[in-house]
Amino acid sequence: MQKVSCDILVIGGGPAGGVSAVTAKMNYPQKEVLVVREFKKQLVPCAIPYIFGDTLGCSDKDVASCGSAVDMGISTIIGKIEDIDFDNKVALTQQESISFDKLIFATGSKPFVHNSLRHSLVLEGVFTVDKNKEHIDKSKAYIEDKENIVVVGTGFIGIEMAMELASSGKKITVIGGSEHILKGAFDSEIAAQAEEILLEAKVEFIGSDRVIEIIDKNGDNIVNAVQLKSGKVVDAEVVILATGYKPNTELAQKVGISLGHYGGIWVDEYMRTENHDVFAVGDCSARRAFITKVPSKVMLASTSASEGRVAGSSLYGLEYIKGFSGTIAIFSTMIGKTAFSSAGVTEDEASEAGMDVVVGTFSGMNRHPATIPGAQKQFVKIVATRHGGQIIGGQIVGGNETGEMINIIGLMIENSQSVYNVMSMQVATQPMLTAAPTNYPIVMASIMAMKQIEKQGG
Ligand SMILES: Cc1cc2nc3c(=O)[nH]c(=O)nc-3n(C[C@H](O)[C@H](O)[C@H](O)COP(=O)(O)OP(=O)(O)OC[C@H]3O[C@@H](n4cnc5c(N)ncnc54)[C@H](O)[C@@H]3O)c2cc1C
Repeated sequence: MQKVSCDILVIGGGPAGGVSAVTAKMNYPQKEVLVVREFKKQLVPCAIPYIFGDTLGCSDKDVASCGSAVDMGISTIIGKIEDIDFDNKVALTQQESISFDKLIFATGSKPFVHNSLRHSLVLEGVFTVDKNKEHIDKSKAYIEDKENIVVVGTGFIGIEMAMELASSGKKITVIGGSEHILKGAFDSEIAAQAEEILLEAKVEFIGSDRVIEIIDKNGDNIVNAVQLKSGKVVDAEVVILATGYKPNTELAQKVGISLGHYGGIWVDEYMRTENHDVFAVGDCSARRAFITKVPSKVMLASTSASEGRVAGSSLYGLEYIKGFSGTIAIFSTMIGKTAFSSAGVTEDEASEAGMDVVVGTFSGMNRHPATIPGAQKQFVKIVATRHGGQIIGGQIVGGNETGEMINIIGLMIENSQSVYNVMSMQVATQPMLTAAPTNYPIVMASIMAMKQIEKQGG
């Protein structure tokens, strides 16, 4: 057993582990930072769907990275931490005994498959979307010459997978379990716009029905259909289960770390576990929602990276007294040539949480004048509290700029901005780059929300 020593040990080299290590090194340059991660080639998880289709438009779809941590003086060991002795501050892989002072769990998440379908994972042709290159390469090779594919799950990963596979000419059926796709992130009228794009791409969407069985009719352990709750049977040569992820807390549980809601590692706002020398960040940690403060199942690289920055700044004292105040579930997805992005709570979610809200919407164009070649429609929806007009959510549909515009709304949510502040917000505009200053959609949607407050008596 080789003895290794470091000051800060990070377990996991995904977005949370990577950002924690880099932030720790930036804050404590004199400390030895060591990342132990399982795989030499670390997939960029958000790019996995693009391995399966034609969107990248190139044959080299190696969306793995080996990391640039080494340039910063961060050490890496490829291996798996299998045990930890907290009394002696030693972590063990099969080959190394690693002594540490501070420890960060960034062990991520694994695909979640409902109990009723779990036994079908042994069938040939049934795949989850693992963040593991070997697994992804194997499923891609299997799918290559198959035509008829069922994707179970209508979250953004299921939809991105479906669209990518459809782009290479396969027959795709997405089966949901909810009336609309992208539930939780978009209100139904916006999800309906995304569903139209699915239809145009010839992706069949079966909403309010669910897969209750994955079948090998011939009893040869090769999948050939799925059985739905309604009794309908849908043929399938391949079934992709995009049914969510669960925190990977195998190691944490083994070494007695306390868990919180939804099976994630319990942490405070500085990402500390009960032992203040031990932190947890990313998908393996228990999260709550920024606005409603309820436990959250959201698993996003955006949230994970923020948590990594907080942990990496709080290892030897609280450097920045802000902490992590919950996930705003900010993300974007591309469906066909249209971008959909969301942050905070939706109108539906707000009403389910018993919040009294108003909404403002605005449809415009992303260039001015709208006759500029390539100009695309842009739609913004703002959700705000009726009392005070605090912005608590936003959804945008439009061109590529949507991916950055949502970050403006995200910052507004995190900083408790109100629609009254946004009404007079100054925006940089340019005909070739943005919407018109006279009609900037985030500002206009905020004004519409203000008008709703006035109309209904805020
Ligand atoms: C297909 C797909 C698309 C996605 N798209 C987006 C997107 O567009 N935007 C977005 O914000 N999010 C997206 N996500 C979600 C995002 O990828 C996750 O939230 C993010 O990867 C979580 O980061 P993490 O570092 O916490 O965990 P992970 O990425 O799961 O990384 C954890 C790492 O820890 C390693 N590990 C675990 N246990 C040990 C151990 N004992 N010893 C050593 N190493 C260990 C694992 O091997 C793994 O590499 C997507 C996810 C998927 C699957």
